[in-house]
Amino acid sequence: MIKIFASKFAYKPDSWIERSIKRFRLGVERVSKYKFRVRGMKNERCSRYTVVFMGHDENGLPKFFCPCQLRRKKYGKAERYCTHIGAVILYILSKVKEDPSLEVMIP
Ligand SMILES: [Zn+2]
Repeated sequence: MIKIFASKFAYKPDSWIERSIKRFRLGVERVSKYKFRVRGMKNERCSRYTVVFMGHDENGLPKFFCPCQLRRKKYGKAERYCTHIGAVILYILSKVKEDPSLEVMIP
């Protein structure tokens, strides 16, 4: 599962992969069909981040919203997939076998 994840995001730096894995291990919760809660790390502003699945873009790739991106945009550092979203994608990959409804959210 980690291998699949790393190969999907081969274009991302190793630090992004590692941080996503660390967040995934800290705990991701599915709070409703398209909403996930990711725990914040000690040095972060928020103790939890709610990541929401927003449908697909014109290339058929899933779009997610994370509240940390609002803040980043102000500094021109908006990224398509932050590591909160990375952790949610790991969660989705780990659960999709038992819950096929997650499949639409796999990039
Ligand atoms: Zn985020």
